[in-house]
Amino acid sequence: MNGHAALPPQGRPREEVLQALRAFAEGDPDYKSNRLWSLVYWLDDAHDEFLGQAWQSFQSANGLNPTAFQSLKRMETEIISVLAGLLHGPPETCGVVTSGGTESCLLAVKTYRDMALAQRGVKKPEMVLPVTAHVAWFKAAEYFGVRPRLLPLDASLRADVAQLPGLVNRQTVLVLGSAPEYPHGTIDPIEAMGAIAAARGVPMHVDACVGGFILPFMEMNGRALPAWDYRVPGVTSISADIHKYGFAAKGASTITYRSLELLRHQMFVYQDWPGGVFASPALLGTRPGGAYAAAWAAMQHFGEAGYRELAARTMQAFGAMRDGIAAIPELQVLGDPSGPLLAYGARDRAVNIFAVGDQLDAKGWTVNRLQQPDGLHAMVTAAHDGVVGAYLHDLREAVAVVKADPSLARSGSAATYGMMSHVPLRGMVKDKVLDLFLQMYRAGGQKLDLHAAPPAAGVVDAVAQKVAGWYVAWKQRRG
Ligand SMILES: *Cc1c(COP(=O)(O)O)cnc(C)c1O
Repeated sequence: MNGHAALPPQGRPREEVLQALRAFAEGDPDYKSNRLWSLVYWLDDAHDEFLGQAWQSFQSANGLNPTAFQSLKRMETEIISVLAGLLHGPPETCGVVTSGGTESCLLAVKTYRDMALAQRGVKKPEMVLPVTAHVAWFKAAEYFGVRPRLLPLDASLRADVAQLPGLVNRQTVLVLGSAPEYPHGTIDPIEAMGAIAAARGVPMHVDACVGGFILPFMEMNGRALPAWDYRVPGVTSISADIHKYGFAAKGASTITYRSLELLRHQMFVYQDWPGGVFASPALLGTRPGGAYAAAWAAMQHFGEAGYRELAARTMQAFGAMRDGIAAIPELQVLGDPSGPLLAYGARDRAVNIFAVGDQLDAKGWTVNRLQQPDGLHAMVTAAHDGVVGAYLHDLREAVAVVKADPSLARSGSAATYGMMSHVPLRGMVKDKVLDLFLQMYRAGGQKLDLHAAPPAAGVVDAVAQKVAGWYVAWKQRRG
């Protein structure tokens, strides 16, 4: 109808539908062989099945109204309590289970914006974000109208705490630190930042979305880390995802606060709705019961010993990756990652790191690209333990191939990534990326593939050429 897809006139048998779904997955990244270094935290089929069973047993349950499904409220309370303990929170530490890290980060911004308005009358709110803050914080800035003030990095790619005092003012509603930050796996100087925030009377949130379910266990295993959680007095809230290193099913994160006085500003109550008096602790309306059940199940199943063992295996894989990359003369690890994430770039200017990425892709690996500085990324998990050797082998080959053929930097996705990261007119890049996304999301939206497969590559190339053309024209105009 009107060119749109139609429902099958008669429904299809369940088995046939499931078969079709399985076929859809064929072109997806091959995470089960651990060749993917982002997006999926995978252990094995047995764990996957276990999560599925836990999810299934509560998939119809709804956390929207925490007074209705007592089971879900009980799971939420237990999850938050365990986490408060792991994060060394005081006895009053409280919080909410959310659908993911982004929801947790959005909520922190909403909470502190509203708190600053209520307590200090702040009408033009600002927040201090290290430039490596997760992109969810920039999303929150746009959604909630809180202006980000960017805290630059020091030489080791840590947030430069010396510049923090100059960025805090009367409009500041929160200071953010990450443990660790996503791009390079570096833990920000939380202790020093917390002291400055506390002295200025500004709340400090620690984004431990990726670190929250591994740093505590790394410490229990004897690894010395700089203080990063509620042990730092200035830290007022922490986000920690269960669906990352907690190995829950997707859709489970947490936000905790040092006290209920903070959390109260997260709550939404509307007493005059014809549908009934309404109260909600987080962003979502319907909150999927399955996500709670799978998260609770994962935590109970692993227990402290299980998570410690996963952390140990992860850090073994991480150490092998870091040392293996550092031993390749043309490459260097970026910053000083604490694990479990790391990034690396080219030390040798004859090697284009994005072209190295293309070579890795061609060998069946899936790696993320970074910019400012250019790099490749690896989110290392316990399951990568078995593939680090193969990865490093392919990486060495990839570097040799790229070094021998510099033209590779101008082809494949390397050209696109290079262009996207280096064109100085960032607003133009933003517009072009928006166009590409709109192409994907228009009616009957097409698939976007940054690699060779037509027709999308044609789109990307055309954009890249256009951007390059504008850049040249702009340079000429400037003489
Ligand atoms: C993953 C991540 C987020 C966002 O979490 P999602 O679950 O992807 O929404 C936020 N902050 C950090 C540091 C992260 O690593």
